[in-house]
Amino acid sequence: MKNKTIIFLADGMADEPISELGDKTPLQYANTPAMDSIAANGVSGTMLTLPEGFPTSSEVANMSVLGCDLATEYCGRGPLEAAGQGIDMRPDDKAFRLNLTAVEDGILKDFSGGHINQNDADRLIAALNESFRTDDIKFYTGVSYRNLLIFSGSKYSHNIRAEKPDDNQGEPVSRHLPKADDPEAQETLTFMLRLIAEAPAVLEKLNTTANGVWPWSGGVAGALKSLEEKYGITGAVISAVDVISGLGKCLGMDVIKVPGATGYIDTNYEGKASAAIEALCTHDLVYLHLEAIDEVSHEQNLKLKIQAIEDFDSKIVTPVLAQIPSDTNIAVLPDHPVPVSIGKHTRTPVPVAVMKKGGKADSVMTFDEISCKTGSLGALSNGDLMDLLFK
Ligand SMILES: [Zn+2]
Repeated sequence: MKNKTIIFLADGMADEPISELGDKTPLQYANTPAMDSIAANGVSGTMLTLPEGFPTSSEVANMSVLGCDLATEYCGRGPLEAAGQGIDMRPDDKAFRLNLTAVEDGILKDFSGGHINQNDADRLIAALNESFRTDDIKFYTGVSYRNLLIFSGSKYSHNIRAEKPDDNQGEPVSRHLPKADDPEAQETLTFMLRLIAEAPAVLEKLNTTANGVWPWSGGVAGALKSLEEKYGITGAVISAVDVISGLGKCLGMDVIKVPGATGYIDTNYEGKASAAIEALCTHDLVYLHLEAIDEVSHEQNLKLKIQAIEDFDSKIVTPVLAQIPSDTNIAVLPDHPVPVSIGKHTRTPVPVAVMKKGGKADSVMTFDEISCKTGSLGALSNGDLMDLLFK
């Protein structure tokens, strides 16, 4: 029988040294005794989660961590979020992620539409359906600003090149419009451009924090191999965001929804910790994902980033470590960096620490970007972590 395993995944936690913090990174600066104990009692290293050739997106990074073969299995974010929302995609459906954004004088002011509240987001998506829905084009509500646009039928294509909204804050929207990669995508593109141009007039009437839309990362339902197939294990995923829940679902994991999990710093940390402890009784792997740190990093809010890292350590990692069986294998890592100095994802390898039953510790004593570089795990990449834990 395999040992039980928990992976603590802190979205966007990695960063760079910051002069205000005495040239420490936020993770070095923050008080994180629980994560440090994993590094001190285990082995550490770095992991490349966003290889060149793929978008610098969370779904790519989390696929890397969970051992997906990016070259053959990468399918875009749309279909993963659809799975996360329980939408059954048909083979000729193309799903795009649709951000609700805030736009002022043609400039993208906020890719999250002011972290629009759920009630307002639901109203805006209803308004989009009322104005733009057709027999084969439909909008679906997700969590806050993270929604979906699904095209059905062979006349539409997912071969649209669209930039990430969070890479384009402060930029004129007109300079970053989606483009069609092949002639078959022209009809899809035409709709999208009309939507981007006309949505503000519809949305502004509802007086919320969002008034724009940004469709991106489209795809068709992919062929992800399940964890059972690849590693012979069962899994559970705990996350507030549809893309991670959906990725888990596509990998055959059980999706555990925690009431009050918001994807932000007001999330239900305690509820997520309890859900993880419980899920570990019935699954080989529990993947506990926290979105909050990523969000405040995009906001370039250093104070909140340090607070969110400390909350993750004290309200999630600490209680889980205290209550799970002592022979549980444990890993902790961010999916990718979001340096607060730029507020965007980077491809820099992230720190990782692993505590395996019966394993010997290396000399790394603290969990952070700098000290993990000296650990005995060395430089990991796509699939290495899962192999280390389950092969
Ligand atoms: Zn992010």
